[in-house]
Amino acid sequence: MSTVKITLNPQQYRSKVWVDWCPGCGNFGILAAETQALAELGLNPRQVVVVSGIGCSGKIPHFMNIEGVHTLHGRSIPYAIGIKLANPSLEVVVNGGDGDLLGIGVGHFVSAGRYNVDLTIILHNNGVYGLTKGQASPTLPRNVKTKALPKPNIKDAVNPIILALASGYTFVARAYAYDTRHLKDVIKEAIRHKGTALVDVLQPCPTYNDINTKEWYDKRVYKLDNEKWDPVVHDEKEAEEKLVKAIEKAREPMDEKIPIGVFYQNELVPTYTDRLASRISNYLELPPAKQVIEKDGESL
Ligand code: SF4
Repeated sequence: MSTVKITLNPQQYRSKVWVDWCPGCGNFGILAAETQALAELGLNPRQVVVVSGIGCSGKIPHFMNIEGVHTLHGRSIPYAIGIKLANPSLEVVVNGGDGDLLGIGVGHFVSAGRYNVDLTIILHNNGVYGLTKGQASPTLPRNVKTKALPKPNIKDAVNPIILALASGYTFVARAYAYDTRHLKDVIKEAIRHKGTALVDVLQPCPTYNDINTKEWYDKRVYKLDNEKWDPVVHDEKEAEEKLVKAIEKAREPMDEKIPIGVFYQNELVPTYTDRLASRISNYLELPPAKQVIEKDGESL
């Protein structure tokens, strides 16, 4: 993370572009929490890059007064990895929907865990492809029929928390778009974390998902963070045990109760930047964009 702290209010991280999400969309809560998190961390807007793919969430770089790239469908993660490797001093935040990151982009989502690049991935998880009129996305459970579907969903759902844990993500959390204070705190922790961080945000889409509504979530979400739940891996011996506990917690059915908070955090795993720096002695001293992943013509 950049060490130069500045003082701005959350509004100063917002652009003047009109936000055209539907009224009541959970994306508003994510945008508010994200700008609040950046302000409280004192990050210089010129040192933060937000990267998005395609979907309603993909518009977020336009609404923020920070560096941003609105990329191709499903390709935000490789863009983000490239940006971070070219200039490790930047803080890189990916925003993507469940269709974008877990549908067409799922290969990159899994691959990110193997790198453990220091970046934050914020998943706008609403169970539908909102931008294209509400088709079932990879997180919509089987047999659920939202109003845009002619018949109940025929496919099973992906669990983003379990997928991230199985892929090697070193920070995995879930939050709720309408609890912006908690969401902001989780995003701050994710940005501070050294390694690949996922924040799976339950984000109601009132236009196309009439099942997982604000009222539906309000009755079910509860916070994990109490003295009995410690997601942090303090030493290597704990890593396996805490990973298994996090997976078990994430497997709990979400019909009645839905935990939000940090499921797992392990900073003992070296980041990809650390791994490169151990092979290229001056990697971190190289000017931005001159960082390379080859030496003497050989791939490292
Ligand atoms: Fe939000 Fe859904 Fe509207 Fe997209 S379609 S802006 S996700 S409410």
